[in-house]
Amino acid sequence: MRRWHTSAAARKCVQCGSAFRDAETQRFCSRSCYWKSMELDWPDWATLDRLLSQKSTPAVAADLGVRPSTLYMRLRRRRLRQSTGLIEDSPGAL
Ligand SMILES: [Zn+2]
Repeated sequence: MRRWHTSAAARKCVQCGSAFRDAETQRFCSRSCYWKSMELDWPDWATLDRLLSQKSTPAVAADLGVRPSTLYMRLRRRRLRQSTGLIEDSPGAL
């Protein structure tokens, strides 16, 4: 038995790291992990605010590798959150 091939049996989700067994081509344990992996890994708001104080929003968006509209949307969502006060503002929340 070639032991160095045994690791292929149990797979690890590239998003959450939990082990699962499935087709070899699958990289995620669940659909929600797949979706999460599609989201940008945003910097926290403190970092984002600092960048935005130094550059224009489109320039910051370019640095992050996103479209300006995506960043504008995120900023708008935060304003909405803050104005309602219903949802806690956490760095990972969209
Ligand atoms: Zn997962």
